[in-house]
Amino acid sequence: MPIPRKKFVAGNWKMNMTSSEVAPYLEIFNREIETVENVDITLIPSFTALAKASEILDGTQKIRLGAQNMSPESKGAFTGEISVTMLRDLFVRFVLVGHSERRRLFGETDEMARRKIITALATEIRPILCIGETLEERQAGQEKTVLEGQLRGALEGLSKDQIDEIIVAYEPVWAIGTGLTATPAQAQEAHHFIRAYLSKTWGPEVSSRSRILYGGSVTSDNARVLLEQPDIDGALVGGASLDPRGFAEIVAAAVPAE
Ligand code: PEP
Repeated sequence: MPIPRKKFVAGNWKMNMTSSEVAPYLEIFNREIETVENVDITLIPSFTALAKASEILDGTQKIRLGAQNMSPESKGAFTGEISVTMLRDLFVRFVLVGHSERRRLFGETDEMARRKIITALATEIRPILCIGETLEERQAGQEKTVLEGQLRGALEGLSKDQIDEIIVAYEPVWAIGTGLTATPAQAQEAHHFIRAYLSKTWGPEVSSRSRILYGGSVTSDNARVLLEQPDIDGALVGGASLDPRGFAEIVAAAVPAE
């Protein structure tokens, strides 16, 4: 019997929340999730809020921290960048790579995502690789070709051990911040395809352990039905993670049934 994959729910605050808003948020969120067990919970604040969250959480295991971005370089003359060592210093455990906003607005390519993944893994920070098709690509029936291209571009040549440390997030671009959500069947089909690619490339054992998250307008209303799908192992939540009560409801929807 394969070991069931523990659900993983992450809240990407994007460019929202100042450091002074972190303590009131955490006070409510901590209270709301007090009885939640068996879900991996990660908050992904902006860099300034991240420093504050790290100070308050002080290494607690119940809520772990992720960063929204990092430099592929390890240190030096890269004005404005944040290195993996700086993230480690704040007890950061995860980093988003290839988020569609970074691809679309800041020119992040599969090759850059790949370099960031290699740098992060060398410092024991686990990358969350975001992939997904645009509306035009879906309408043209190209979504699987796009997903495969992004997976290959970011992951080709990595070892099984490295793939074991990576989380993939399927985030259809047309569903991010738009209020449009993939139907559970559309999301499941994409997740199944991603797992099949991992299996074909690194073997069924690796792919059966890999966690694949869904992201794109997840809310407390639609989380449960998405998280019930067999290949959906969690959620990457943007807008809805800014409300600590609403985000706690999404986390609760990920608790395994008795
Ligand atoms: C995201 O930023 O990764 C995301 C999924 O955003 P939203 O939930 O707001 O669509």
